[in-house]
Amino acid sequence: MSFKLNNTRPTVIAGPCSAESREQVLETARELKSNSNVKYFRAGLWKPRTRPNSFEGVGEEGIKWLSEVSKEVGIPVMTEVADAYHAELVLKHGIDAVWIGARTTVSPFSVQTIADTLKGTSIPVMVKNPMHADLGLWLGAIERCLASTKGEVAALHRGFSNYTQHKYRNAPMWEIPIGLKSQLPDVSLFCDPSHICGNTELLSAVSQKAMDLGMDGLMLETHPTPSFAKSDASQQITPTELRVLISNLQIRSSLKDSASNRNLSSLRIKMDSIDEQLMELLSGRMEISKLMGEFKKEEGLTVLHLKRWREIVKTRMNWSKELGLSEEFILRVLEQVHKESIRVQTTVMNEGSNSQKTKTDTL
Ligand code: PEP
Ligand code: MN
Repeated sequence: MSFKLNNTRPTVIAGPCSAESREQVLETARELKSNSNVKYFRAGLWKPRTRPNSFEGVGEEGIKWLSEVSKEVGIPVMTEVADAYHAELVLKHGIDAVWIGARTTVSPFSVQTIADTLKGTSIPVMVKNPMHADLGLWLGAIERCLASTKGEVAALHRGFSNYTQHKYRNAPMWEIPIGLKSQLPDVSLFCDPSHICGNTELLSAVSQKAMDLGMDGLMLETHPTPSFAKSDASQQITPTELRVLISNLQIRSSLKDSASNRNLSSLRIKMDSIDEQLMELLSGRMEISKLMGEFKKEEGLTVLHLKRWREIVKTRMNWSKELGLSEEFILRVLEQVHKESIRVQTTVMNEGSNSQKTKTDTL
């Protein structure tokens, strides 16, 4: 069993975030069975939840439901393993493949324990990127698995947790999976648009982008009634929606590109990704300007505080000097950002009081 099932892209892995009941698992699998792109059924049994007291998965009980999907519905199944005990159970029950989750990839100790348990077996393993943008940790986890299982080891890009993130649940930072591919060209690279997006609106665009970058396949969370899902309800789609999403993808071949074109497009991808992050940061900054506007309105303060502006210029000019940026350029950027921040704060201050002029007018 391998993830490289054939050469038609995308190879799709679909199924619910969590196995919730035997009925939900089998109903989803039967609907997915008729979709020829779906090569693997996924369902989490042990759910790594950020906060306690949320649904933590059905655990061991769900293994037999997955075995039914594999043997009776006829789709190979995979689930997440986060420790040696999970790995032992999965091997004992003949689960077809596993993935290592983002919270596990951050810990070389945990990855090694799983790799040791899989040693000498032929189970295929997918390794999700770690929570934060660390290519070395991702490569290391893949290398640990490559040294243990005789089955295929593939990489799964699920985006990176980012404090300033607004648009995506996990920032794609496409340059990182591209970096991985250039270091491990023989390792298949899959994308998990569900965990990148955290919603359903962006799924198609992210799936298309993964295809345009030449990725081998997609993992998409699929649930018969997404709004009732016990985990990740906002990002799951129905099997019918999955079919539409896949059929709308444009699959272009990137193999014909010359080496110099590939270098140029890899630089463009990095630039796009940095610009996307710049926009996220600016949007986060403007959100803070709004909150400041509300605060100043309540306290009866003026929008512009010259002393604070002078401090901003001084500190930012020092930071940018250390980074080798031109002073003239940074001053122009700062002035524009400041101007927009004043506009945002003034709008907030004037909301609901059109006739009442704020103290900004005196500036
Ligand atoms: C999952 O696939 O449901 C999951 C928990 O993923 P991640 O490790 O990417 O958060
Ligand atoms: Mn999930």
